[in-house]
Amino acid sequence: MCGIVGYLGFRRADEVIISSLKRLEYRGYDSWGVAIGNGKLSLVKKVGAIGDVEEYSIGDGTLGVGHTRWATHGKPSESNAHPHTDCKNNIAVVHNGIISNFQMLKEKLIEEGHEFKSETDTEVIPHLIEKYYKNSIEDAVINCIVNLRGSYAFVAMCANERKLVACRYKSPLILGVGDKEFFLASDVTAILEYTSRIVYLQDGDIVILTDDGFKILNDCVEVDRQIELVPWGIKDAKKSGYDHFMIKEIHETPKVVEDTLSEYVSDEIELDVSFAAGISEILIIACGTSYHAGLIGKYVIEGLTGIPVRVEYASEFNYHPLLVGRPLAIAITQSGETADTLEAMKKAKKFGARVVTITNVLGSTATRIADHTLYIRAGPEICVAATKSFIAQLIVLYVLALKLANLPRHEINELILELKLIPERIQRILDAKDEIEKIAKRLAKFENMMYVGRGIGYPIALEGALKMKEISYIHAEGYPAGELKHGPFALLGEKTPVIASVIEDPTYEIMLNNIKEVKARDSIVVAIANEDDKEIDKYVDWVVKVPKTNPMFSPITQSVALQILAYYTAKERGCEIDKPRHLAKSVTVE
Ligand code: GLU
Repeated sequence: MCGIVGYLGFRRADEVIISSLKRLEYRGYDSWGVAIGNGKLSLVKKVGAIGDVEEYSIGDGTLGVGHTRWATHGKPSESNAHPHTDCKNNIAVVHNGIISNFQMLKEKLIEEGHEFKSETDTEVIPHLIEKYYKNSIEDAVINCIVNLRGSYAFVAMCANERKLVACRYKSPLILGVGDKEFFLASDVTAILEYTSRIVYLQDGDIVILTDDGFKILNDCVEVDRQIELVPWGIKDAKKSGYDHFMIKEIHETPKVVEDTLSEYVSDEIELDVSFAAGISEILIIACGTSYHAGLIGKYVIEGLTGIPVRVEYASEFNYHPLLVGRPLAIAITQSGETADTLEAMKKAKKFGARVVTITNVLGSTATRIADHTLYIRAGPEICVAATKSFIAQLIVLYVLALKLANLPRHEINELILELKLIPERIQRILDAKDEIEKIAKRLAKFENMMYVGRGIGYPIALEGALKMKEISYIHAEGYPAGELKHGPFALLGEKTPVIASVIEDPTYEIMLNNIKEVKARDSIVVAIANEDDKEIDKYVDWVVKVPKTNPMFSPITQSVALQILAYYTAKERGCEIDKPRHLAKSVTVE
């Protein structure tokens, strides 16, 4: 959460920083600020969306820092917006993370005569740097971080020095290397316009940038870090004519499925699963949408392999990390930086598990903690609500399950063929999206919804409800259809539509019974069902039709349809969509 940027080079820093911050807005967008150094500090801090560079006279220097905030300590306001400065307005700092011992540090600094202007935890950093500053920002930062507890990626600058100093500890930070210019950012998407040569910084790294180049220290020793070439381009980080990133990213799903499949499957599955040799149990750890991918993975892996799979919210696993036998832990995180998931991975390792991560981001922290990485090929995902990356996570889980499966060869081959048809099936859903839009327009007036499913339809319902609530602000709950009568029936009625995931597997008939029970309580029922299912029309009010596939793969087709349903519902309600209130994409604080 929070996006930070630093620039040192030959261009106007305010232009580079503002354009980069705009690409980081999905990480936080309650307030923003920029500091430019040119002998003295020029500072702008504002509440709300990032403005255009022409609106502000920030200063024409070629060195500066910027920040887009997702508040943890202190409400969104100009004084709490970053950059934060020292008493003399000489030192500026932008920070992502939480300084957990800030209260104690702040009290001590106040006793020593420092004057604080904000309620943030961050402000202790510039004051500590001020305290230690003699004639070098580099030395002062090194002395400062000895005092800090918690998590941080921060960039510091001093008005009198042509230098940026950045530190990373448990919050993401990358260094972009251009030709006679350098960039620091929370995420590569921020700087793709300028360079695709990236150094992924590691915990404990301190980077010092000057016009002569960069130097990275870790534990007071200079270290070499490889420059990686990121395979993403600037067009991946633009809306390209779509109204929102969300719908653009849903439209990219067929290609993402093809790319992810081609990574692991040709005529047969080419995934080396030696990391799974001799395992007795699989633990899947994840948060949010990735957690729902994990739940679907559980149904598929258990169904195909007989290996028991436990799925845990990473944030909860951290409190009861019990593992038995020789477990394999699979950590699913789009960004590879989700703080709770990273902690859970470390715990799982400590308790003897081999750890595999499924992630989208090359060089992310998850890839460094894991023993093995399975990349999805989703490209940058800018909309806070995950869409294409969720489907790509499912693809990797299917491939893994098929590789571990105890099925006759011809059955595996048939399933692989079916998987290869998925991009075309998704494309057909996209081509018929107007039909889903019509239903969404009718649903937009409700304030509550219930999503239900049985078997593999249950996690589909959970994810459908999450998508709806996060972007449309409609209260939506996902429930196992069989559990409705154990409580939630009390909420049903004409004001609460029910969205039912109907799958042509052994759950089909009982699902129809459940729908009848719901209809008897006057709720509108919308079914997500196969296009050739004629029976379902007799039971429900509206049907979202999806192409038929093997029931095991229906989470893919049904979820794409539910993403589109949520998108158009939110659009009809005039919601922000790409940047829902209070949410940020990469959840880098616990
Ligand atoms: N703790 C800092 C603040 O509230 C940074 C927040 C973050 O990184 O999410 O300003």
